[in-house]
Amino acid sequence: MSRVLGERSIDHVVLERGEVANSWRRERWDSLRLLTPNWQVRLPGQAYAGAHPDGYMPMAEVVAFIAGYAETSRAPVRTRTEVTSVKTADGGYRVATNGGEIHCRSVVIASGACNAAHVPALRAAVPASIACFTAFDYHNPARLPEGGVLVVGASATGVQLADEIRRAGHPVTLSVGEHVRLPRTYRGRDVLWWMESSGVWNQRYDEIDDIVRARRLPSPQLVGTPQHATLDLNALAAAGVELVGRLSAIRDGRALFSGGLRNLFALADLKMERLLDTFDEWSRTHGRDADVGTPERFEPTRVPEKTRLEIDLGSGEFRSIVWATGFRPEYGWLNVPVVDHKGQLRHDGGVVESPGLYAIGLPVLRRRKSTFILGAEDDARDIVEHLARYLDRATPRT
Ligand SMILES: Cc1cc2nc3c(=O)[nH]c(=O)nc-3n(C[C@H](O)[C@H](O)[C@H](O)COP(=O)(O)OP(=O)(O)OC[C@H]3O[C@@H](n4cnc5c(N)ncnc54)[C@H](O)[C@@H]3O)c2cc1C
Repeated sequence: MSRVLGERSIDHVVLERGEVANSWRRERWDSLRLLTPNWQVRLPGQAYAGAHPDGYMPMAEVVAFIAGYAETSRAPVRTRTEVTSVKTADGGYRVATNGGEIHCRSVVIASGACNAAHVPALRAAVPASIACFTAFDYHNPARLPEGGVLVVGASATGVQLADEIRRAGHPVTLSVGEHVRLPRTYRGRDVLWWMESSGVWNQRYDEIDDIVRARRLPSPQLVGTPQHATLDLNALAAAGVELVGRLSAIRDGRALFSGGLRNLFALADLKMERLLDTFDEWSRTHGRDADVGTPERFEPTRVPEKTRLEIDLGSGEFRSIVWATGFRPEYGWLNVPVVDHKGQLRHDGGVVESPGLYAIGLPVLRRRKSTFILGAEDDARDIVEHLARYLDRATPRT
């Protein structure tokens, strides 16, 4: 955002409560690598230029990329500056920080979509003998108590952590709800190459039938490994992870899981097949069949012969629960009435209901790719276009 504002000579500052690339430095587990390939790591005016375009960056490389970008862009970042309040004032905004106040005509909220773990209220019923972790306080399997681990949630975070914890020797049970299954590679190309090339990722928010649902869609079951491994439920089951249904309640110390894994799996398989059909169609109609392998179809997700519907959390079988149930943004500092009862910002493609207030970096903000690093550029250009017009129209402050 700052780079694009700078290109148009729009005066601005970037306020960051921590350091540049703070979320990548402080809020990720030790082994995490990007699930987007290196060649997709690009921001306006800078793209990955290393020796492994098809690899997946560990966190230290992501931090170096973003910190280097801030320097070469000469972004006017004020680090260690926490925004504690934003209020409307004098036709603009008054922004309070731990380093003093700023008056400005426009504010872009770029505080992230994943500031906190979203954990269901039933966590409160977990017996005290069980240690609870989220993606924010989980670092590596060595920091877990010995014994069984229940991982709740089977999207990108859940499948990656279940796999890592199982490999470290813990018995792991994975509670699976609605999920998005994807193979790591398809017809010899990274599946995210297909998402980008075929235009699926570019689909605009105002062309999507059910945008509320699209914005709530869980992250895909993907992991970035040097082996380009697929990490779906079949791979996890083969590694010895027990699959159970969605955690629906905890009553008297017993965890209760929904049945119906067969339907859940069939739905995820069907959606994956439809997406692969879309890729095939695009490849055929755009004359790309010669550049890629032949169409593939994957084994359906295997339904376990028996699934447990109930687990006694007091039996000693499980010593910890990892809540991989998603993330949420935090807007406690935003004193403008633009946040709905679910804690989500009300906006139309990043244009917030209060004049001069904008957002970037939220799910399907303007395109399906909006929350990914490579999605920032197109969204930033669109938003700066709107913002520049707003500044031109708004009466200049004296
Ligand atoms: C576990 C995980 C894995 C991911 N993997 C990938 C991936 O492989 N590829 C990919 O493209 N994307 C991935 N993403 C998405 C990724 O988060 C976004 O691509 C990118 O980080 C969004 O950048 P951002 O600047 O919008 O938000 P963030 O990176 O969250 O940055 C927001 C910044 O705002 C600061 N901030 C928040 N509140 C305040 C305040 N009140 N005052 C001052 N500063 C504040 C925070 O400290 C933070 O530095 C992943 C996300 C998660 C959670």
